[in-house]
Amino acid sequence: YRAKASSEQVVIYDPAMDEVSRARSLMAVELRAALELGQLEVHFQAQSDIPTRDLVGFEALARWRHPERGMIPPSDFIPIAEATGLIRELGVWVLNAACREAVSWAEPLRVAVNVAPQQLAQPDFAETVLDALLVTGLEPSRLELEVTEASLISDKRRAEEVMASVKAAGVRIAMDDYGTGYASLSTLQTFPFDKIKIDQSFIKPLGRDRQAAAIVRSTLILGEALGIPVLAEGVETETQLAFLDRARCREAQGYLFGKPCGAAETAERVREQWARKRAEFARGMSDA
Ligand code: C2E
Ligand code: MG
Ligand code: MG
Ligand code: MG
Repeated sequence: YRAKASSEQVVIYDPAMDEVSRARSLMAVELRAALELGQLEVHFQAQSDIPTRDLVGFEALARWRHPERGMIPPSDFIPIAEATGLIRELGVWVLNAACREAVSWAEPLRVAVNVAPQQLAQPDFAETVLDALLVTGLEPSRLELEVTEASLISDKRRAEEVMASVKAAGVRIAMDDYGTGYASLSTLQTFPFDKIKIDQSFIKPLGRDRQAAAIVRSTLILGEALGIPVLAEGVETETQLAFLDRARCREAQGYLFGKPCGAAETAERVREQWARKRAEFARGMSDA
């Protein structure tokens, strides 16, 4: 039989289908329901300034709280959402939820949202982003969209147009998972990125792998030469952080600064930093 998975997409059950594709089709139907039932959540992972260790922003990461299977990671459901086209709706939902949370924070830190290739290929994607800003009231410069090279390869012209219009509105664009694509260098040449996120696969081996260290160092030099700030993903140890600091990497994200956490806990972390900064400021005033 046929089960409707979204307004345009249809998932077909065929008894001849293998176990894996049957499970995926079922999951697609469930995922669509999950979106409507409010089982999806946005978690946030800290992004920190390396020299001061201050929080400068958060990356929004989708989570599926499944009633029976518990928390399902995005690596399990984003590919299915992409294959069925549901990613467009899911992406709009994440974008709006992330902007709404960011507006509630005590300090106007940045919020980064992942954008799937199919979203960027939508003719009205820029409008969708501007709507989210208008509806939530988030200052455009606080929003950063994370795109991967995969988004830019399929329809380069469209992607360029969309990126130009969101940038014109003041939204920032980051290149995610830098170094894992096919044409990182030429992509950097063509698109006006505001940030480069070095993929965690290059950060993990820092301290024990000279090749990884060389790639990270050269990316930092490249970023500096192009005037694009670089963030290191997947920073887990003080050793990695010390290397990055010496190499003058500006920002880091990773378990060392915190795992992704729920909206309430995130808001509390922002409030704590804000209170600390305010107390320091007040002390400075009374000393002067
Ligand atoms: P990403 O955008 O590269 O996000 C970073 C991933 O690395 C997150 O995994 C994060 O939890 C993980 N991570 C961060 N720091 C560390 C660390 O120190 N060690 C280790 N081992 N891992 C770390 P997560 O949340 O499982 O997300 C996986 C991917 O799923 C994301 O990779 C992103 O590509 C995708 N994704 C997540 N949410 C969304 C979304 O709303 N829309 C789209 N299109 N993709 C999403
Ligand atoms: Mg990302
Ligand atoms: Mg990444
Ligand atoms: Mg990744």
